[in-house]
Amino acid sequence: MSGQDVGARWAGGEPPGSAPPLPVIWSRRWAAAGSLPALFAGGAACTYDQLDERTRAAAGRLVGTGMGPGDRFLWTAGPSIEAITVALAALRMGAVLVPVSSGMTEHEVGVLAADARATVAMVDGPAQGRWVRAAAPATRVLTAGLEPVAGGPPLAGGGDRPLPGPQGPLDVAAPGDPAMIVYTSGTTGRPKGALLSHRNLAAGVAAVAAAWRWSPSDRLVLALPLFHVHGLCIGLLGTLSTGASAVVVPRFEAGAVLDAVTAHRGTLFFGVPTMYHRLLASGRAAELGALRLCVSGSAPLPAALWAEVRRAGGVEVLERYGMSETLLTLSNPYEGERRPGTVGLPLPGGSARLEDGELLVAGPSVFGGYWERPAADAECFVDGWFRTGDLAAVSPDGYHTILGRRGDLIITGGHNVYPAEVEDALLAHPSVAEVAVAGVASEEWGEAVTAWVVPSSAVPVDDLLAFAATRLAPYKRPRRVHFVDALPKNAMGKVQRDRLG
Ligand code: AMP
Repeated sequence: MSGQDVGARWAGGEPPGSAPPLPVIWSRRWAAAGSLPALFAGGAACTYDQLDERTRAAAGRLVGTGMGPGDRFLWTAGPSIEAITVALAALRMGAVLVPVSSGMTEHEVGVLAADARATVAMVDGPAQGRWVRAAAPATRVLTAGLEPVAGGPPLAGGGDRPLPGPQGPLDVAAPGDPAMIVYTSGTTGRPKGALLSHRNLAAGVAAVAAAWRWSPSDRLVLALPLFHVHGLCIGLLGTLSTGASAVVVPRFEAGAVLDAVTAHRGTLFFGVPTMYHRLLASGRAAELGALRLCVSGSAPLPAALWAEVRRAGGVEVLERYGMSETLLTLSNPYEGERRPGTVGLPLPGGSARLEDGELLVAGPSVFGGYWERPAADAECFVDGWFRTGDLAAVSPDGYHTILGRRGDLIITGGHNVYPAEVEDALLAHPSVAEVAVAGVASEEWGEAVTAWVVPSSAVPVDDLLAFAATRLAPYKRPRRVHFVDALPKNAMGKVQRDRLG
């Protein structure tokens, strides 16, 4: 998919309740919020008036480099007000933001820079600048302060002035214009860039803001990485589009998060399951009780962990489900039953259905296709519905349970086994802190159900197997158990199953 037809696949044309693009929403919200705080980060703070002024100035500098609407802007995500300002400026001037992690290797940065064919890149150090240049020699490279890095192609533009808006060159992107390319964390082959339109972003934010009663008086404690949709599109853009505020915690650490909750009187926390695990382990989980809402996503939140957080923290974590390609599509209700082990019901404006056990979703936050990947688009869309690749089940009253990625399904002795079901059963054992289950090739079984267990206290394998036998049919029980110190996980706390073993 190229820039023009982004979002065209939304079934039935214009989505219901279509929101204006985020920059248009911002110009209203930010003017109304004025001198109220928008962001706290790294000991600094910035009000909405300052955010407006700084993003205008940064947009002027970006235009001054010769970058225009629709051009890809490789942005190294960072938890500072300076870095965030640059990302917002790029969105305001109509560039396509391509977030990357500062932790990426030379190979990873090179692949994304070349694939996105970025006009301009903002890097966070000289090494990363060299990597971008080696892979994409035409890309102009800037520092986080938007100074050109010496030795690259000359900057093409002449201007370097704050841009006027909304009538000027700022805030004029149309809803269907491309806003962001988010590379998915595929483990093999060339990574795919999910191309999200301004409409997708605005709809994604509007849905969660309405569902979770997000208001200007809320303050989010934001410890998620900003190169991923969870932190960037939901946490940061959600905050700035509702006129609320956020405290950016540079790296998740349980003590730092809980200190920020108290010091800044936080009302919201969005995390991944590993974070809840660590908050419990800190012995300070009771402090979560000061928050209005705790949300979990990006990976399955085991029902046992949900119950522990409720016991120790007095909060019922609200679990929701989403993907880079779709933003959030399913959520437990804010009011009403938050059912552990499930991701709830479709968010406002969205729809979900199952086909052969696979979850399909549609709605205004669902992207229109991958960046220049027609073959991948043809495979993942059917009549305007996006195939998520996740297996799911739905209860008679509409609550969805994610059973795992289709590719992770274990076929053992001709039976289908969902790793999540076996993991949940083992997690209920008091000596199991964390567990991952996968199939390992076996002559006898095709695949043998295998568990990697992080114990919280010593436990004989036979005890675990006897415990599993009380909860799982024989074909679902692990054939092998490995005790490990930690599970391999990516930055979002997702278990990397290809690295087990
Ligand atoms: P990403 O595009 O990196 O956000 O990854 C999306 C994938 O994360 C989904 O396809 C699911 O496999 C997984 N995921 C996200 N939220 C949940 C959840 N609440 N429970 C289980 N899996 C989830």
